[in-house]
Amino acid sequence: MRTITPLLFTLVLMSNVGGLSGCSRLGVSVPEGSRPLTSAAKGASSATRAKNEEFRKALPFEDERDFELARRGRIGGTEMLRIKADRNKEAAWDMDAYAFIDIATETPDTVNPSLWRQARLNNIHGLFEVTEGIYQVRGYDLANISFIEGETGWIVIDPLITIESARAALDLVNNTLGERPVTGVIYSHSHVDHFGGVRALVTPEDLEAGRARIVAPEGFMHHAVSEAVVAGNVMTRRASYMFGRLLQAGPKGRVDAGLGKSTSVGRVSILPPTDIIDTTTTTLTIDGIEIIFQNTPNAEAPAEIMFYFPHRKAFYAAEEASAVLHNLYTLRGAQVRSGADWAKWLDEAIDLFGGEFELVFGGHHWPRWGREEGVAYLSSQRDMYKYIHDQTLHLANLGLTPLEIAERIELPDVIGKQWFNRGYYGTVSHNSKATYQLYLGFFDGNPSNLNPHPPSEAGRRYVELAGGADALIAHAQEAYDEGDYRWVAEVLKHLVFAEPKNKLGRWLLADAFEQLGYQAESGPWRNFYLTGAQELRFERSELSGIADTASADMLAGMPSALIFDFMAVALDGEKATKADLTLDIRFTDLEERWLLEIRDGVLRYHATRRVEKPSIRLSIARSDFMRVMRGGASMPKLLRAGDAKLEGGLLKLVSFAGLFERFTPDFEIIRP
Ligand SMILES: [Zn+2]
Repeated sequence: MRTITPLLFTLVLMSNVGGLSGCSRLGVSVPEGSRPLTSAAKGASSATRAKNEEFRKALPFEDERDFELARRGRIGGTEMLRIKADRNKEAAWDMDAYAFIDIATETPDTVNPSLWRQARLNNIHGLFEVTEGIYQVRGYDLANISFIEGETGWIVIDPLITIESARAALDLVNNTLGERPVTGVIYSHSHVDHFGGVRALVTPEDLEAGRARIVAPEGFMHHAVSEAVVAGNVMTRRASYMFGRLLQAGPKGRVDAGLGKSTSVGRVSILPPTDIIDTTTTTLTIDGIEIIFQNTPNAEAPAEIMFYFPHRKAFYAAEEASAVLHNLYTLRGAQVRSGADWAKWLDEAIDLFGGEFELVFGGHHWPRWGREEGVAYLSSQRDMYKYIHDQTLHLANLGLTPLEIAERIELPDVIGKQWFNRGYYGTVSHNSKATYQLYLGFFDGNPSNLNPHPPSEAGRRYVELAGGADALIAHAQEAYDEGDYRWVAEVLKHLVFAEPKNKLGRWLLADAFEQLGYQAESGPWRNFYLTGAQELRFERSELSGIADTASADMLAGMPSALIFDFMAVALDGEKATKADLTLDIRFTDLEERWLLEIRDGVLRYHATRRVEKPSIRLSIARSDFMRVMRGGASMPKLLRAGDAKLEGGLLKLVSFAGLFERFTPDFEIIRP
């Protein structure tokens, strides 16, 4: 993972625009001789059943060793698990929703059998003794949280997404193994599923008093609070597709995200590290335990460490080795990762620790025991990323374009048929496209793709070319009946973008997405297809929203420059073209002073530049400024109470604020 979803769309200012583009007519008649189109969810078609059967035949389902590994050492935890959210009556985490997977006696035909296998494995949750003195709580959130017995307390690795989940895990450990204080925390990397619950474990006072330490890789704080800021709103919306948050759990809905079940929803926190790792083989002793670190930036995460516990011969692979093909490109949208760098770090890990370790465990999934098995696991994962990287460029150098490469490239069986290399999270297909993009960008070199019409415009022309909406639907229906759902998705996209209110077109496209979802081995692919289908069948207003809460820790951890970077993105450039405003702002709680200028549609900020007569001069605590931006406080009230001081007039401040867009993560994806 992934994203700092809760935080971004909270960074909002004060205006908003809406509006959908126009649409022509309401529905068309059902093409003759076809099944009636409806908005109901469907079962698996015969084509989908056949496709899923192919999967079953191609993979070694008789090999059940992963189930042994996933259950090995289980010493605690209840079958039913529902963690209540602190701030409302909802569940922050709900494993009960996935009980249907344990109860089922066979694989539903609406789920790819390989993904179903992964979903069964990820259902195994509780407290596990991994080796003497090392424990993991798995299935309490998307990620694992690990506990190392120190001389006096627990050293905790990767405290999950939310305070609620991390607290439940700590309680389970203390209640089962005896209560101990938390003396150390290690964030393996800058993704929120590996730090957000930290306040359940330690307080700022613990850190100040030296009762606990927090270790993190170089650049952790920066990347943790900034990776998802400037593009945060769009990532949040796309993440809701990727993790299937709007889907019901069930055989026709959410079953698994591949990397874990899904993401917990609750209070996210962050505390700054006390110890930074910037060099490989840095050795620290925490609570009497020696730990050797490997710094591995810019692969799975921009800031990441793997590390080794010599006293237990145990290697923590963070998220760089997991029981999935991971993402070189994550579908919520993120910067592309280099498969070559990823492979390099795994190779270095084998060189550094592979001669010694007897255990490899990590931030997701179950461990690998024994030196040979551990080395084989890391080597195979290394080769997988390297193969995708190298062969994508190999094919690109032969002149193949991304779509052609994705269709052609396949892992050799020796790599691809390893269960832990299956595309449950990333896929070879989209990772190869990402690798192409990393080196060559979005353009495939074909001039036709330089400046095509945008979707609605192209859609209108394609519908006309097809002889109208009815003819296009009839054609798509034929393709549907032949099981060519990819083609249905391709042609009906044009109709939905040309005529978003054409219900029959939407319903047929939804049916095709649904079958593609039922066939997908990747959790995120399934979630994307099924969420798309759901949003085609129902109006957006009928869908439940995303109710994440802002994290005061995350906001407080942001440098002011990053907040201004986000404001610059929120600025409506068209509106601001004629504006000429300067804001001299003093953050009274931080003793910072900034000059913000809006001119020619651009917001610039400077810590040093001053102007004689700014349009507005504002003194305010940054925390209050942030609350105003998030809609949690009113500027006039702060001014009246004397908590903010303004020169230049409220009217000017209002016109300043009016230049910014209020982003909300509920925009349309599958229609205009
Ligand atoms: Zn993770």
